Amino acid sequence: MAKINDNYLKLPGSYLFSTIAKKVAAYSAANPDKEVIKMGIGDVTKPLAPAVIEAMHKAVDEMGTAEGFHGYGPEQGYDFLREKIVEKDYQARGIDIAADEIFVSDGAKSDCGNIGDIFSVDNKVAVCDPVYPVYVDTNAMAGRAGDFINEHWSNLYYMPCTEENGFMPQLPTEKVDMIYLCFPNNPTGVSATRAQLKPWVDYAKENGAVILYDSAYEAFITNPDVPHSIYEIEGAKEVAIEFRSFSKTAGFTGTRCAYTVVPHELKLDGVELNGLWNRRQCTKFNGVPYIIQKAAAAVYSDEGYKQTRDAIAYYLENAKIIREALTEAGLSVYGGENAPYIWAKTPNGMKSWDFFDKLLEEANVVTTPGAGFGPSGEGYIRLTAFSTKENTIKAMEKIKAIL
Ligand SMILES: *Cc1c(COP(=O)(O)O)cnc(C)c1O
Repeated sequence: MAKINDNYLKLPGSYLFSTIAKKVAAYSAANPDKEVIKMGIGDVTKPLAPAVIEAMHKAVDEMGTAEGFHGYGPEQGYDFLREKIVEKDYQARGIDIAADEIFVSDGAKSDCGNIGDIFSVDNKVAVCDPVYPVYVDTNAMAGRAGDFINEHWSNLYYMPCTEENGFMPQLPTEKVDMIYLCFPNNPTGVSATRAQLKPWVDYAKENGAVILYDSAYEAFITNPDVPHSIYEIEGAKEVAIEFRSFSKTAGFTGTRCAYTVVPHELKLDGVELNGLWNRRQCTKFNGVPYIIQKAAAAVYSDEGYKQTRDAIAYYLENAKIIREALTEAGLSVYGGENAPYIWAKTPNGMKSWDFFDKLLEEANVVTTPGAGFGPSGEGYIRLTAFSTKENTIKAMEKIKAIL
């Protein structure tokens, strides 16, 4: 008889966003006259940049001609895009990355999950708490997380990120093999400086560990001390894989394009991970559509860059409005300076879900309870800057009025 992968049976239900949706629907049904503002949206809202749309239209037209038709492309991505990435995202910052170290994909979410294919199930995995759930669940599916007991996976090493440590994970006190780091962070919105990242690269070198660095929110960085890439840290090419995405950078959440960097210097037991990832992608992935890669390349044109930066500036302005309003309302507020996320401490030790309910019922504002991102998220809520400016201002006025 065929057997299932019973690691899937160990996964707890993922109820966070469905529970929020149900609560909001129930409140709206009972209070049809109340306007509810959503400040929990984890998706961009601004339309694609005109330069991106123009490039996409052009690529569509090309596909309808004999000369311009593109069938299967290279699994790793077209050179025109890989070369732009190298030039604009790396060389421009003084980082030496080669085009064959870039693997274009349909998303950082899938890459963060799929990367586990090239690692042994025996590796010890370290994750931050609170955390983007993809790192945890994909390792659980692969059998690397053990069993889910008392809100914790028995084989994962948790790095609590709390107010006491400034929401910065502390170096593991036992030996770990794979370390997921995400800066600027989702959900806390906190970012790591070069000085804060350096010890992680040193730890990985000393312990033969690999850092899986998610820099999906790189475009939101405003502080010059915060690196845009982990490869800005000396020695990182020997120990780190980096994930980037056009989703938050250029509004590609529904368009789908991202990339992963696997440097040739990164070796385990003398084996280059670049070769393994290449083999994995060539076998299980058939490339991102030509039309979409042309759209992504347009993000690097002068026009495209300016237009996409305007959208980021708009979201960062919202983040500032949220930070200031919640601070005025007397809450302790973190993040939101180099990220579209604001992490706010609940007043008087209130539970995340209780504060969520209070904000929904009294201010008609939807947030995300921190407890949904891991045990250390209890006592916090996450707000996002992805709403409109008008609604952000309105929501903050309402929150200030009730606190
Ligand atoms: C949004 C997000 C991504 C990007 O995922 P895509 O699949 O590229 O849309 C990656 N990591 C984190 C932490 C995110 O929040």
